[in-house]
Amino acid sequence: MSPTDRHDRTDRPGSGSLLTARGIQKSFGTNHVLRGVDLEVQPGEVVALIGPSGSGKTTVLRSLNGLETPDAGVLELDGGPVVDFGAQAAARAGGWAHRRAGVRRAKVERAALRDRSAMVFQHHNLFPHRTVLDNVIEGPTQVKRIPRATAIGRAEELLARVGLADKRDAYPHELSGGQQQRVGIVRALALGPDLLLFDEPTSALDPELVGEVLSVMKELADEGWTMVVVTHELQFARQVADEVLFLDGGVVVERGAPAQMFSQPAEERTRRFLDRIL
Ligand code: ADP
Repeated sequence: MSPTDRHDRTDRPGSGSLLTARGIQKSFGTNHVLRGVDLEVQPGEVVALIGPSGSGKTTVLRSLNGLETPDAGVLELDGGPVVDFGAQAAARAGGWAHRRAGVRRAKVERAALRDRSAMVFQHHNLFPHRTVLDNVIEGPTQVKRIPRATAIGRAEELLARVGLADKRDAYPHELSGGQQQRVGIVRALALGPDLLLFDEPTSALDPELVGEVLSVMKELADEGWTMVVVTHELQFARQVADEVLFLDGGVVVERGAPAQMFSQPAEERTRRFLDRIL
């Protein structure tokens, strides 16, 4: 299954970005976690978010699909609504009628964001009492209202693609961690998203299982899927990402092509981080 046909559309408005985020800010209580993050993803591009633990990477990712609601900033998915988080926050702080209309609009906007992207989590979050197949078709049938037979056919095709055709009727506990995470990826693909979001998909795995998951992700990148990946796997970022963003303290300290950034970081903070990790 290739997403290329979706990415070849020539009727895109503006710069042709699939996703544009500007000035994203988020606080949890007094913890000002994101301090104005800008991010642009072109169709077919892989963007890697790297940085120390607590720098805000996951919060950025979750903001992109509406799992987190920023306090300020603007997010635009090509062909979708322009989501103005500052306006949403103002509506929430306004009078009753204003708040009600604002909440309704925010709900619609969040649903539109969710509809376009699919997230692969650090822990696969598979339903333990459902088979692999049932886990995969749950989103397509329940959320997307795709007929069950169609969803099953598509799920089988995707499972075969990641080498798990024979695990169709297995339960998650019967699979290795790497296989479970591959099912997690298939579950995201089955939603037919425009954008795949990965939140440290290999960090909970035993080292010997990391490779099989990264190689599936690399194949997806090669096929032209648009991906934003939070990762500590710098080797993967170097090989697969078109652009790397280094976050620290809730800001993008540096961004650029991985070859450039990893060999000659422009910023001292990036250099210190890379020296620690590489
Ligand atoms: P990273 O992914 O770079 O490790 P995160 O985005 O997970 O960073 O977290 C950034 C900061 O936000 C951390 O200080 C974390 O404790 C805080 N944080 C994240 N999510 C929440 C939440 N739901 N409630 C409170 N604090 C949070």
